[in-house]
Amino acid sequence: MRIAVLKERAHGETRVAIIPETVKKFTALGAAVAVETGAGLSASVSDQAYAEAGAELTTAAEAVAGADIVLAVQAPDVALLHGAKPGAWVAAAFDPFGQPGRVDAYAKGGLEALAMEFMPRITRAQSMDILSSQSNLAGYKAVLAAADQYGRAFPMMMTAAGTITAARAFIMGVGVAGLQAIATARRLGAQVSATDVRSATKEQIQSLGAKPIFVENVAGIEGEGSGGYATEMSEEYRRAQAELVSSHIAKQDIVITTALIPGRAAPRLISDAQIATMKPGSVIFDLAVAQGGNVEGSVPDQVVVKHGVRIMGFSNTPAHLPADASALFSRNLFNFLSAFWDAEAQRPVLDEEIGGAVRLTQGGKVVNERLLGSGE
Ligand code: NAD
Repeated sequence: MRIAVLKERAHGETRVAIIPETVKKFTALGAAVAVETGAGLSASVSDQAYAEAGAELTTAAEAVAGADIVLAVQAPDVALLHGAKPGAWVAAAFDPFGQPGRVDAYAKGGLEALAMEFMPRITRAQSMDILSSQSNLAGYKAVLAAADQYGRAFPMMMTAAGTITAARAFIMGVGVAGLQAIATARRLGAQVSATDVRSATKEQIQSLGAKPIFVENVAGIEGEGSGGYATEMSEEYRRAQAELVSSHIAKQDIVITTALIPGRAAPRLISDAQIATMKPGSVIFDLAVAQGGNVEGSVPDQVVVKHGVRIMGFSNTPAHLPADASALFSRNLFNFLSAFWDAEAQRPVLDEEIGGAVRLTQGGKVVNERLLGSGE
């Protein structure tokens, strides 16, 4: 069983799919691990550290030659995978809805694409879930990046020169990223409020010491929603939400938006007119900027100033914490493959529930129900 890991080639990608700890763990299972030279440098992992953990350091083409499994953060171009075993697995983030062409190319190339973002939200798969591990770090980083752009302090400070008032932070969308954003903003000393369409988040917001701000007159999503995910909301709900946000947002200094709907463009939560009501110097961090944006006028990797408000968002937020993001991503991959390791076959053998959910291509065809349109 040969596992290959390449240097990530996507623009701005600093993460790497394996760390020395997981090299050792795969080796202990009986696999040989080949890593492209320099693959970990942007995540602060030296070639030497990989070599000491037992990996073979080599060129991309040699690493892939004869590989049974390729691990990546973002699925590599198929051209890079020539020489892998026929039917080799590639476990990575595929952005399957956003990049259907890449999925087709994997099918044509006879590769088995395993999309880690399609991991089902079931208890036993929690440790394999890259969306959770990366969103958690993204929620943390969004608050730090916003704090850095904010010309004031977060905590209340009583000094000899006078008192600094605490910043007010509003978190919109309370999934994994939003919960971490609430916790981080609280730790920095801000007064935090938060909103979501899923009613189950109300208690979670309160338990973190923040104030829930919810649409009361139109029903949102009862409980967790399907698989923990939100759906698109009715026109009536959106109007009620816009009203609520308008009255709340004018008093906020920091707004972090995290709202996503799987397979759809991110919902628009903040309009230019609402931004105009905010105080100059306020900061909005749009964590959904790469999925279409929750905020009117947000541009990936730029700080846009509108009405004196700074609007920002990263195209790849976890890539701003490459060492921790890589460590968690790589453990997600290890937890996934090791959970299915068949000692006799000396390789992982996936079951239907998880294998069927993540597998995009097999035997030259696209096989995933969500992509074939019958599973959504
Ligand atoms: P997500 O990234 O898909 O969305 C972020 C948040 O935005 C969600 O809370 C969603 O409800 C909210 N949202 C969507 N549209 C909105 C709108 N119009 N206005 C306001 N908010 C809106 O979600 P996520 O972070 O991946 O997690 C969602 C849930 O799934 C959480 O409750 C999480 O605990 C759960 N989860 C479970 C597992 C598991 O059991 N294995 C793993 C991960 C997450």
